[in-house]
Amino acid sequence: MKAVKLKGPKQLELVDVETPVADGKNVIIEVTACGICGSDLHYWHSGRGMGGVYDLIMGHEFAGIVVDSGNRDDLAEGDRVTALPLDPCGLCAACRAGHINICLKALKRSIPGNNSPGGFSEFLKLRPDMVRKLPDTVNDIQAAMAEPAAVALHAVRTAGICPGDTVMISGGGPIGLLCAAWAKINGAAYIALTEINGFRKDFAANNGAADEIFDAADPDFPSQVIKITGGGFDVAIETSAADAAINLALMMLKPKGRLILAGINAHTQAILTIVAVAREITQKSVMAYLPEEFDTAIDYIAQKRIDVEKLVTSTTDLTGLGAAFERLASGKSEDIKIICR
Ligand SMILES: [Zn+2]
Ligand SMILES: [Zn+2]
Repeated sequence: MKAVKLKGPKQLELVDVETPVADGKNVIIEVTACGICGSDLHYWHSGRGMGGVYDLIMGHEFAGIVVDSGNRDDLAEGDRVTALPLDPCGLCAACRAGHINICLKALKRSIPGNNSPGGFSEFLKLRPDMVRKLPDTVNDIQAAMAEPAAVALHAVRTAGICPGDTVMISGGGPIGLLCAAWAKINGAAYIALTEINGFRKDFAANNGAADEIFDAADPDFPSQVIKITGGGFDVAIETSAADAAINLALMMLKPKGRLILAGINAHTQAILTIVAVAREITQKSVMAYLPEEFDTAIDYIAQKRIDVEKLVTSTTDLTGLGAAFERLASGKSEDIKIICR
C-alpha cells in the first residue's frame, strides 16, 4: 500500500509499505480522511516522531472503512469508523487512576501516528477497543475532526468553565477555535480570542468563534479587556505555547484565575512567576482526552451542536501532503485545518 513516511526534518516521502494483515484481534481500516495536526508539524520539523521514532507514518486524526473487524463482533466490513489514537497500558499508576490519556508507558506503547503507523496511508491497523463506529450523520471529514475536538473539550473541562465565566483563548488555530466553541457550549459569558496572524484573526471573526478577536500584540488589548471583564478573565486557555502568549494570559487573569496550558514547546520557557504567584493563579496542563470526551465530541458533531467542518480549509491527497506541511509551516498559510483524503 501507499503511505507517506517522515524520513528526516521536513522530509516526507511517498513509499510502498506492507499492508497490515488481519490477525483476528486488531481492526483494519481503509483510511478515508486524516487531518494534519500541530503535533504532526512538530514531528515534521524535527524529522522524528514521539520518543524520537524514525520513519514514522504520521496522522492520528483519521476516519475510515472497516476492512477487517478483528475481535470486534459488533463491527462488520464496510462500517465507517474512527478511533482514539491511544494505547494505554491499563496497569500503570495513571491508567489505574483512570487517566489513560497520560499513561506512564506511552513512549513504549503503539500510538498510531505518533510512534507507530498512522493515517497518512491507505490502510491502518487499530487497537480494537479504541475503534468507534460512526453515526450516519457524521461524514468522514467531520469524523477526522473528532480527535482535535476532543482535545479542546478536555481543555475546557479541565478549566472547569461554567455559565457566566469570562474566557480568554490564545491562539486561533484549530484547537483555539474548538476551545472557543466548547467554552460557548459550556455557557461562557464572554470569550476573547487572541491571535497575531492576520488570516487566522479574520477567519475567527468571520466564523463567530468568539465574542471578540484581538491582536495579541495590540498594546490596548490589556486595558480594553480589563474594562470589559471587570478586572480580568476567570479562565485563560493557552494553545500557542509561546512565552509572550503565556505571560499575556497570566497578566490578563483575575486573582485566583485559572490558566490552562494546552500548547507544547520543547524548550525551557521564561514565565512571569511573579504574576502567577501574586494572583494565586491555578495552572493546569492538558494532554489528549478521555474516552468519554472523545465519544462526547462525536455525539456533539452528530447532533450538529458543534461545527467542526468549517475549520477544514483545504484537502489534499498523499501525493500533496509534503506541500501541505510546507504551507502550514510557512506561517503565511491561509489554512486552519488541512485534511488528507
Ligand atoms: Zn491532533
Ligand atoms: Zn498506563
